[in-house]
Amino acid sequence: MSSPIALSQPVLIAAELKGLLEPDQIQGLDVTWLPADQSIGKGDWVAIVPLLSRWVGGTQLKHLPRLRIVANCAVGYDNVDVVAAEMRKVIVTNTPDVLTDATADLTWALILTCARRLVEGIDLVRSGRWTGWHPEQLLGIQLRGRTLGLFGAGRIGQAVGRRAVPFGLRIIYAARTPKPDFERDTGAARVEWTRLLAESDILSLHAPSTPETKGIVNSDTLRRMKRGAILVNTARGDLIREEAVAIALEEGRLGAAGLDVYADEPTIHPRLRAAPRVVLLPHIGSATHDTRRKMAAIALANVQAVLRGEPPLTPVFR
Ligand code: NAP
Repeated sequence: MSSPIALSQPVLIAAELKGLLEPDQIQGLDVTWLPADQSIGKGDWVAIVPLLSRWVGGTQLKHLPRLRIVANCAVGYDNVDVVAAEMRKVIVTNTPDVLTDATADLTWALILTCARRLVEGIDLVRSGRWTGWHPEQLLGIQLRGRTLGLFGAGRIGQAVGRRAVPFGLRIIYAARTPKPDFERDTGAARVEWTRLLAESDILSLHAPSTPETKGIVNSDTLRRMKRGAILVNTARGDLIREEAVAIALEEGRLGAAGLDVYADEPTIHPRLRAAPRVVLLPHIGSATHDTRRKMAAIALANVQAVLRGEPPLTPVFR
C-alpha cells in the first residue's frame, strides 16, 4: 500500500480545473487555486498544476524554491522550461494518451469540414440566401484515393492515420523514427518532409512545438505544397506562420485550412481571421468531458505520487 502524504502539502492548481477534480484527488493537499489571469508569485508551494497557457520558466521556478513537480495539464509541454526545471531538480509531467482519441476525432472534424466546405454551407443556410439544390453548389473534394500527409506520427498522428483507412486515403508521414506497426496496419509510408509537402492533398500537423518544428509551415514550404491542398493544424500554433497561410488562402494556392491552435492565443493574425476557406476553432482538440476529467486526474495523480516520494506516472523525460 502506498504511504499517505504528510498533511497540508501546499500546492498551486489552476483554478479553472476545480470543476474537473474529485475531492479524493486533492486529498492531503493544501490547495491554492490560481486563476489564469494571476501571476505565480513567490511561495513555498511544492507542486504546481498549470494550464498550457501559463509559462513556467526560470523566473517562476526561482520564485518557488520548494517546488518538486510541474504537473502540466496537457500532453504538450512547450509552456514549461524543462531545462530550467531539470537544473532545479523539478520533475515535469504531462497527460499523454487520454487525449489522443479526442484530438484525433477533432482533426477529422476539421479535415471533413474543409474537404466538404461545411462552414460555407452552414453560412449559406443561416443567411436565408439558399435557393435550393444545384449540381455545382459548394463542390468539395472526394477523399477516396487522395493522400493524407502526417507531420508527426506519434500517438495522435497515428490515431488520425488509422481513422483514414476506411476513408480510402493513401497515408504518408514524416517523423524522426519509423513506425513499423503503423505502416503494417495502415499501409502508410515514411517520407522526407519535402516529399510530404509535395504529395499531400491533406497535410495534418501532429508534432510538438520545438526549435526544429517552429514555423515549419511558412511562405517557402507553402509554395511547395500541391495547389488546392488542405492544411490542418491541431498540434501547436507556432508550427505555422499565420500570415503566410492567410496569403496562400487569399491567392488560392491553399485549398482550405482547418486550425485549432495559434501562435499567440487567443490572438489570431487578423489576415488569417479574414482569409477565405479557413476554419478556425478555439483550441478544443481535447475538449470532451471524459478527456478533460482524465487529464486533470492524471495531473493530480502525478502530484500525489511525487509528494509520496514515488516516481511520477507520466514524466516528460525518463
Ligand atoms: P507524440 O506521441 O510525442 O508524437 C509526436 C510526434 O512528432 C512523433 O511522431 C515525433 O517523432 C514527431 N516529431 C517530433 N519532432 C519532430 C521533428 N522535428 N520532425 C518530424 N517529426 C517530429 O505526441 P502526441 O501525443 O501525438 O501529441 C502531439 C502534439 O499534439 C503535442 O505535442 C501537442 O502539442 C499537440 N496537442 C494538441 C491538442 C489540442 O488541443 N489541439 C491536444 C493534444 C495534443 P518520433 O516519434 O520519431 O519521435
